[in-house]
Amino acid sequence: MTCYYCRGEMIEQKTTFMYEDNGEFWIIRNVPAYVCTQCGEKEYSQETTRRVLALLSHPPRPRDIVHVPAYELAAA
Ligand SMILES: [Zn+2]
Repeated sequence: MTCYYCRGEMIEQKTTFMYEDNGEFWIIRNVPAYVCTQCGEKEYSQETTRRVLALLSHPPRPRDIVHVPAYELAAA
């Protein structure tokens, strides 16, 4: 499997999926994806995408709650 963008090799890995919806952040760990070894582009299978969307529409109790520091890039 080759990357659509840079033609690099893509290998299957477990990734962390992050998603923002109106200031709410969702983190889903252990999501299988094909990841480009050159540019880092990720591709998800249809089945994985379906499972992620199903989880987001009916979220189970979270595994844990993480606190993430937030920054802003100052104007130059
Ligand atoms: Zn690539």
